[in-house]
Amino acid sequence: MAAAAIGRNSASHSLAFRHRQELAIVPRPNLTASKFVRFSILILLLITGCHALPTTHSLLPRSLELPQKREIVRGQLVIHSDFHLPRRHRLLGELQSRRDDVSQLLNIPVSDEPIHIYLFANEASFTDYMQRKHPLFPNRRAFFVKNDTSLMVFAWWGNRVAEDLRHEVTHGYLHSVINDLPLWLDEGIAEYFETPRVNRGFNSPHFHLLIEKYDSGQWQPDLERLESLRKAGALTLMDYAESWLWVHYLLHHEVETAGLLQHHIEQVRLDPAAAKSLHQLLTESDRDATELLSHLEYLRKTVKP
Ligand SMILES: [Zn+2]
Repeated sequence: MAAAAIGRNSASHSLAFRHRQELAIVPRPNLTASKFVRFSILILLLITGCHALPTTHSLLPRSLELPQKREIVRGQLVIHSDFHLPRRHRLLGELQSRRDDVSQLLNIPVSDEPIHIYLFANEASFTDYMQRKHPLFPNRRAFFVKNDTSLMVFAWWGNRVAEDLRHEVTHGYLHSVINDLPLWLDEGIAEYFETPRVNRGFNSPHFHLLIEKYDSGQWQPDLERLESLRKAGALTLMDYAESWLWVHYLLHHEVETAGLLQHHIEQVRLDPAAAKSLHQLLTESDRDATELLSHLEYLRKTVKP
């Protein structure tokens, strides 16, 4: 764990945000872009109890209470809410089955570590809780939070909740078995799996954004640059989109490219310090961004406008 990044006296909380995240968040980007109203943070709690986890509900003022009236367990997921949510709600079923999708496509094991999902009834109660409990967090629509003992998702029940939960729960499934996934890949995979299952990973907003920027000469893929990004707050919407495209290309271009991705993830899972970067693996396989752009062109021809 990146103990050096964790200061007992740092800020007002003894927190460090993921090896890739700092709280000096860049000014909130264009919030019409869905990627920036969601944020994934891994809280590395070095000092037990320095930032109370949801264990003292009864002592907290109402605005600091987590949803807790109802609890539904679906596989690895434990869904907490203060409103009625049907036990057999199809979204919960989709989220549960996502674990097998993620495991099979990426060839990673599964875990039985609970992923707690705290679902607020509306944006106001979610925002109130987050601002009081985590005042240094940026303004986002949903969060994934990991500490030494828990995997947690915070979200509110709005018209984007399905996309948000698919994205954040994917982070949960990944982090329940892999400790140190590269930031770009963590987000690229979450962007892939945030789409409805029937879309098979095709993220339409990202596709159209990439086409627009590529056609106007404003974007060229650069995996090495993506791999150099360490702070989630530094990722732009284009970075999310390109990360998604790399994952989509790797999984759908050829069996060999899917194997490269699986091999890379396996190496990162077993020994992240020794794992070669994906850029290195692609170069050793005589592959480069040309293939990625060919994949984008393939999608352009096959996707209905
Ligand atoms: Zn994310």
